[in-house]
Amino acid sequence: MGETRADLPLVEGRTCGACTACCRALTIDEPAMQKLPGVPCVHLDADRRCGIYETRYRACRAFHCGYRLLPWLPETMRPDQAGVLVLPPTTQEANGDGRLSAAFMILTHAALDNEGLAQSIIAAVRAEVAVFLSVPGPPGTKATRTDLTDAVMMPALLRSRSAVLAVVRETYERAKRVERPPVVFKSAAAPQPE
Ligand code: SF4
Ligand code: SF4
Repeated sequence: MGETRADLPLVEGRTCGACTACCRALTIDEPAMQKLPGVPCVHLDADRRCGIYETRYRACRAFHCGYRLLPWLPETMRPDQAGVLVLPPTTQEANGDGRLSAAFMILTHAALDNEGLAQSIIAAVRAEVAVFLSVPGPPGTKATRTDLTDAVMMPALLRSRSAVLAVVRETYERAKRVERPPVVFKSAAAPQPE
């Protein structure tokens, strides 16, 4: 299914604050910088902040997670606090309806009990956004991505947070058992100075 990153404005007044979850969890794959998922960026300093913030890479400047882009996500969903990183929303092209998709990447086991996660999924369903669950594997491997839209539809319409979290937990446990292929960079690394 073809997907493109949705062109959404930033939520006013919402900032990254002390969060650096994307600097650990995600892949960066451009000639100037390659980083595997689950591996902290080498530029994170002792205070866990970006040590090259003013000159950070193009990919870093362009990146905003769902917390920064989706106004219906509650304030409690900042990734470092929630243990959940909502990946940048995409639109699905295959059916031509341009429907928005949001993938919830689970960063910590504690997130599986997070009422804010349930609240967010309910809000997504009610906003007619397709819901996916992403579960990272060992560092350097691909995360899984499972379509939860149908499974959470009824619990979300009934506003049952416990039933939504039950679907998430079951999917998470199943995904954890899946063998993951390694991430292979697509860009050619820039030559390093001698
Ligand atoms: S994960 Fe989101 S909130 Fe956290 S630093 Fe990255 S863009 Fe900012
Ligand atoms: S260069 Fe800075 S902003 Fe980019 S991933 Fe590394 S720590 Fe994060």
